[in-house]
Amino acid sequence: MIIEVKRLIALKKYVGNFQFNMAPLADKLILPLAEVDGDINVEGEYEIYDDDSVGVSIKISYKLKGQCSYCLAEAEKSVAYSYEALFVPDKNDADNYYYDGARLNIQPAVDDAFVFSQPEVLLCTSCAQSQV
Ligand SMILES: [Zn+2]
Repeated sequence: MIIEVKRLIALKKYVGNFQFNMAPLADKLILPLAEVDGDINVEGEYEIYDDDSVGVSIKISYKLKGQCSYCLAEAEKSVAYSYEALFVPDKNDADNYYYDGARLNIQPAVDDAFVFSQPEVLLCTSCAQSQV
């Protein structure tokens, strides 16, 4: 999704929100025996600050489905994850995401949120119970 930062500043619209679904990113899946069932739901808010940096809060949710990491039985898990990103028009700022000061594509932050959101193991109901 693109945020037209320059245009929004001209319109004095400094905050807004977004919501969209996207197809799962198969090449960004960490667990080898799992896949995303259905789409990834993405929603969030952005705020454009005085120095043209843009704070983006992202919430993603989806269902992970596949084989239990321990016993290979069928397993699934609903995942919800929140992620904060700051986009800055400064290429030398290695701590934040870069954008050109005019149009901001939030996709790199959404991709990272998806990677960070994934559990290290996917467990079936019985393995999840014996873990406690
Ligand atoms: Zn299991």
